[in-house]
Amino acid sequence: MPFKTITSSLYICIVSAIAIMSTNINAQNDTPKNIILMIADGVGISQISASQFYSSMPSNYERFKTIGLIKTSSASSLITDSAAGATAFSTGRKTYNGSIAVDTDSIPLPTILEDLQKKGFETGLIATSTITHATPASFYAHQKWRKMELEIAEDLTTANVNFFAGGGRSFFENREDGKNLVKTLEDQGYVMQLDRLDPSKKMRKSKKYGYLLADEGMPRLIDGRGPFLYDATKLGLKKLSKSKGGFFLMIEGSQVDWGGHANDADYLISELIDFDTVIGQVLDYAEKDGNTLVIVTADHETGGFTLASEEGNYNKIKPSFSTGGHSATMVPVFAYGPGASSFAGIYENTLIHTKIKDLLKK
Ligand code: MG
Ligand code: ZN
Repeated sequence: MPFKTITSSLYICIVSAIAIMSTNINAQNDTPKNIILMIADGVGISQISASQFYSSMPSNYERFKTIGLIKTSSASSLITDSAAGATAFSTGRKTYNGSIAVDTDSIPLPTILEDLQKKGFETGLIATSTITHATPASFYAHQKWRKMELEIAEDLTTANVNFFAGGGRSFFENREDGKNLVKTLEDQGYVMQLDRLDPSKKMRKSKKYGYLLADEGMPRLIDGRGPFLYDATKLGLKKLSKSKGGFFLMIEGSQVDWGGHANDADYLISELIDFDTVIGQVLDYAEKDGNTLVIVTADHETGGFTLASEEGNYNKIKPSFSTGGHSATMVPVFAYGPGASSFAGIYENTLIHTKIKDLLKK
């Protein structure tokens, strides 16, 4: 057989071998081991665009190749609140504004955090609000109304979350009912920290960790919060990556929403840039790990925020607001890692939940 023929059939063999290998790799790669869901509360396209103009660093949102848009209306309202918005993500069901993982008849709905715990995942929650605030609460608590933060705090004591960090100390100690939930958590094997977070701390596999670093929400970044969100994420990843069965971590940039409600562009943009930095950290982790699906999205847009031209001057941007509340606009979804491509397109917010569950079924 002439040499040329041998080479080309060998070539075909190699090509088909590579094709089969890559099919296998892709099939495996659609099933993530770990899920990191990052929620920037109140962040629409204009908030993300602000990072382009007001940050000295390139935006980490630009690192994603898969982008989608979600429709955010709740079961009760054209415009959702954060409780119904987070419940859509955590349970896959539309409910009424104010609901913490209960349906329109106030019946508790199983959350993705609870479902994945049963599958052997370790879990974590990080927020710059109280840890009992609507967004994080919708992943572990079941209450009729978001303001029931004392009851939500009690739900956290039975949720078996492996790592949590945020504000909200006042719902755990010095309570009106005299209960000391910090003590309750310690009795259940938690290492509790109430004053500081050391990102270099050694995390033990056998322990659970709880950080409650402010009485109410964490301070605003512009009031000296420092790298709390970054450091908490670093520590959370250090703890959860020890899990053999994978992990689910929810990270919320809670206060972008508060900047929007206050119609305070400096507050909003500084919180957004802080969150953007943490996206960078999480993507670096996921790139190195190779088995982690990262989804970055928002529950809704806040403020009807826009980057308007100032008096028609196209070289001057005037960050502007059209409401002190939320808006009905679609919000973007960014995905990276195994299964990321299923997050492209335009769909309902509940599908975030469905898509994660479908990927894990494979
Ligand atoms: Mg929130
Ligand atoms: Zn809000």
